[in-house]
Amino acid sequence: MSSITEFKPQETKRTSSDFPLFSNLETGGHEQVIVCSRPDVGLKAIIAVHNTTLGPALGGTRMWMYKNEQEAMRDVLRLSRGMTYKAAISGLNLGGGKAVIIGDPHTDKNEHLFRAFGRFVDSLGGRYITAEDVGMTEKEMEWIYSETKYVTGIPKSMGGSGDPSPVTAYGVYMGMKAAAKRAYGSDSLTGKRVAIQGAGHVASHLARYIAKENATLFVSDIYSKKSEALAAEVSATCVEPDKIYGLDVDIFSPCALGGVINDDTLPVLTCDVIAGAANNILDDESVHAARLDELGIIYAPDYVINAGGIINISSELEGYNEELAMRKTSRIYDTLTGILEYADAHGITTLDASNQLAEERINAVGNIGQMYSSNSHFSGRKGEMYMRDRR
Ligand code: NAD
Repeated sequence: MSSITEFKPQETKRTSSDFPLFSNLETGGHEQVIVCSRPDVGLKAIIAVHNTTLGPALGGTRMWMYKNEQEAMRDVLRLSRGMTYKAAISGLNLGGGKAVIIGDPHTDKNEHLFRAFGRFVDSLGGRYITAEDVGMTEKEMEWIYSETKYVTGIPKSMGGSGDPSPVTAYGVYMGMKAAAKRAYGSDSLTGKRVAIQGAGHVASHLARYIAKENATLFVSDIYSKKSEALAAEVSATCVEPDKIYGLDVDIFSPCALGGVINDDTLPVLTCDVIAGAANNILDDESVHAARLDELGIIYAPDYVINAGGIINISSELEGYNEELAMRKTSRIYDTLTGILEYADAHGITTLDASNQLAEERINAVGNIGQMYSSNSHFSGRKGEMYMRDRR
């Protein structure tokens, strides 16, 4: 689905005593962690189920050369938690989960490894549903699919939803328009100067939407051939990767990698709005969301506006319908508008507003679930997906 650019391994010299597992799970609110080992096929994987209050935990599998096991554990805990918030704020009846496979995605792939992994996913009986993430391709998803039905994002030719990037881009576009409405009183992007970082899958589709509104576009990519091709297609101006932050623009759209809003880039930003597809745009959420707020820059939380991907793959669970997935994704406009209003009303950052609203939904729906209902409580006996009949 996405490039490996998003991942930012943290340098660490910690020892195992610095990572008390249970207290980490308690702090993060994680329900379950499954460590999967099959040395005969070279499989080392971790599945983290963060929260299943709203439904089965959905989230991709990432294959990466982690420096050590702790780094892999940290990554899967962080990512699975993020999925809970993304599903909750998007109004999906899904929980948050994620899986990581420790290995080199260029050299360590084989059918046996992924089929073994598929069996571990299957053993959870639908508590965790996987999908494609960094380091994975359709081929590996097909291998996993041959061992478990708890997979989404499989190719269209196999009845799945295929590449989620076009839908993700549409959601980012809707979110950008909602943020523009707040900043300028109109959601039209006509005449706006928009800088897109990255010229990959999501960025390309996004640029096409924005270009149709006659905005002035700037694009950058570390592979200049990609940015040049996109720029030629949408009549944009190519920018050197390190020049994009200080560009005189109205809207900045990070669609490449995470951590790009940081202590170095913040002082040079001139934009009014940040709205992009990249996961974990803020280097340090606890610091940089507030700094953006102080600077008067409207930040559209990444996990809110890049949710088109999960909305798309989750549609597979009910029988994929592209039109419906796009319609649901268009609601990102209203979701973000609600978040911006909530942030204003409570004097908090847009990120805090989004987190609070997601938590409110999880708690409220969780409380409803305390009431006995034969359908929801016994659906597992019929061999259905976990709690499928719930709402
Ligand atoms: P992609 O690999 O197709 O595109 C990323 C592009 O960014 C590549 O062309 C890469 O060369 C470029 N890049 C890397 N570092 C850069 C830099 N410093 N400056 C400029 N360009 C740089 O990935 P994608 O699928 O388009 O995803 C983009 C981002 O959106 C990722 O962070 C991904 O996690 C996130 N995202 C994607 C989806 C999806 O549906 N694909 C869904 C949710 C979130």
